[in-house]
Amino acid sequence: MSTCEICGTQILDHGENIYVEGNLIRVCKSCSKRGKPSKSQPEIQRKPAMRPKKTERLDRITFDDSSILVNNFFEVIRNSRMANGLSHEQLGLLIKERASLLRKIESGSLKPDEVLSKKLERFFRINLYTEVDSSDNE
Ligand SMILES: [Zn+2]
Repeated sequence: MSTCEICGTQILDHGENIYVEGNLIRVCKSCSKRGKPSKSQPEIQRKPAMRPKKTERLDRITFDDSSILVNNFFEVIRNSRMANGLSHEQLGLLIKERASLLRKIESGSLKPDEVLSKKLERFFRINLYTEVDSSDNE
């Protein structure tokens, strides 16, 4: 004969095995309602599924997958800069970016991030992003 591990009364009948916070304990009938029946597995501590950071949604960025940088973004930027008679340094001053960065972008070795792209788009009134379209235009 055993006693209830919750209230301490003697368990006259079979008692109940329940899980309380993951521990299997033997309790009386009235206390058995407080826990989970032993038939069910104790809850396995489930770690939240690790998600790769890449798939994290960035809701505050308005660009989504349907907008991509045009292939010749560096030509567009370069042509716009030349048309305005600006050097890399001058343009850099105007849009508060480093000239070296602009050079890299115009050489195509670096893609402007969205902030810079937006800046350039506004500054030159150009479009650097294009909608991804399933229909072929060319
Ligand atoms: Zn009890």
